[in-house]
Amino acid sequence: MFTLTGQTAIVTGGARGIGKGICLALAAQGARVAIADLREDVAAETARAIEKAGGTAFCRACDVTDYASVQAFVAAAREALGPAGILVNNAGWDRMVPFVKTEPSFWDRIIGINYKGVLNFVHAASPDMMEKGAGRIINISSDAARVGSTGEAVYAGAKAAVIGFSKSIARELARNNITVNVLCPGPTDTPLVDEMKKEGGFAEKVLSGMDRIIPLRRMGRPDDIAAAVVFLASEEAGFITGQVLSVSGGLTMC
Ligand code: NDP
Repeated sequence: MFTLTGQTAIVTGGARGIGKGICLALAAQGARVAIADLREDVAAETARAIEKAGGTAFCRACDVTDYASVQAFVAAAREALGPAGILVNNAGWDRMVPFVKTEPSFWDRIIGINYKGVLNFVHAASPDMMEKGAGRIINISSDAARVGSTGEAVYAGAKAAVIGFSKSIARELARNNITVNVLCPGPTDTPLVDEMKKEGGFAEKVLSGMDRIIPLRRMGRPDDIAAAVVFLASEEAGFITGQVLSVSGGLTMC
């Protein structure tokens, strides 16, 4: 079950954190994995781990906020591994700051990475899937989008935009046999969360108390999210589209 042999998958932000977990899990199921990330050296470490385990990987520096960079990446990945039938939009970024203390440049950065990056990759990668008449798009949002989150107003808004966009594009692409679904991680142990904690203050206080608040009594792990991605990418999930799934140990139930 859930074999992905013969498939090419693009994963954005696949160098570290949740994205790295997704890359390793897709490769373990037999997919060839193209890793799009800002830092090619870190992405190359993930690619090497895939190859060491017997898989096939490709990586190249790509900024998801830059449409030309995204187009070039999709073309290079096609050349290296064949057209992608799976796209996982995982790249994201956030900091916990009260909204009134944020600046427009911060809003632009949050919206650029978390929302516009998804638009760029879906626009650049979906024509190959349309031509093939099959595809899987999985967008990583956040539980912050579903229930709101103090200190993450712009991020939650951008991630909610990902949900609205995904449901709409799921309707548009259904005729091409392309499914589009959204995963919402809850707080998950990654370098991003470590960086936020290190900044101290409110973020450190909130994130350090999560083990006590989450019903299943622990933070998420990249593997938790990756398992759900593998399922949604699989043949077996072919009748599921336009859905939003939280992977958060029960932190939110909506
Ligand atoms: P990490 O920061 O640990 O990993 C994200 C990766 O994305 C990094 O390698 C980063 O590169 C890369 N990236 C950032 N900006 C860009 C860009 N413009 N173009 C290409 N790559 C980029 O984050 P997580 O693993 O924690 O998060 C993964 C996803 O999960 C994000 O969408 C996040 O919003 C979401 N999420 C995470 C949660 C958590 O608790 N961890 C909770 C809910 C959702 P670099 O290191 O160079 O910046």
